[in-house]
Amino acid sequence: MTPDASNIGYDDTPILPGTNYHVHDGNRPQPPVVTPGEPCCEEPVAPPSDAIVLFDGSDLSGWVDKEGGPAAWKVENGYMEVVPKTGSIQTREHFGDCQLHVEWAAPAEVKGESQGRGNSGVFLMGLYEVQVLDCYDNLTYPDGTTGALYGQWPPLANACRKPGEWQVYDIIWEGPRFDGDNLVRPAFVTVLLNGIVLHHHRELMGPTHHRVLSEYEPHPEVGPLELQDHGDLVRFRNIWYRPLTADDEG
Ligand code: MG
Repeated sequence: MTPDASNIGYDDTPILPGTNYHVHDGNRPQPPVVTPGEPCCEEPVAPPSDAIVLFDGSDLSGWVDKEGGPAAWKVENGYMEVVPKTGSIQTREHFGDCQLHVEWAAPAEVKGESQGRGNSGVFLMGLYEVQVLDCYDNLTYPDGTTGALYGQWPPLANACRKPGEWQVYDIIWEGPRFDGDNLVRPAFVTVLLNGIVLHHHRELMGPTHHRVLSEYEPHPEVGPLELQDHGDLVRFRNIWYRPLTADDEG
């Protein structure tokens, strides 16, 4: 069955607050395709001088599986690659508001369609997903496309390079704040893919879920960065962040 708007999403899911669309609605408008203007870089650009490097291409000593054991993904040629069924991995480092840089590549050999093609994810604080997916000539529900804030907000553009090419996420993350059990400020995120703005200070509805509405639950102001094992051979390299301190925190 060829994917089209009638069969790529769900219509039995709740309506997202403030929109007319179901969670994972196949009929939500697709992000327009924008071809990135920058040439695809063969070698990663060096991190800035004050960056905290989470993965420099050499090993996974800074990463663990979700039970805290050794991260089982493969490392070769300066990148890490998902080893399917070994599970998602997280940084040992826990951090909060930040500027985050992540490079990734979907498999050059195209397999699967919709959510089954080059799926992984960048989970801020281990909870909030910026979707990783090969959406180069691959239709899926808009709130699950490349760079979507999964299950909540489609990106402003589909700025994918071809499968196998390196893609660059630059993310500005402002985590939520809680006072006891109360949310005092939601999370906001700005995302660029290959130099194209996908989200500009977008407010998140809560942590990432599948098929249901999200609600915030109190958590610390720091958390790990998590990369998702969704069963596809996605690669990552050159991962670093710079901490940000909000004005109201001095
Ligand atoms: Mg994903």
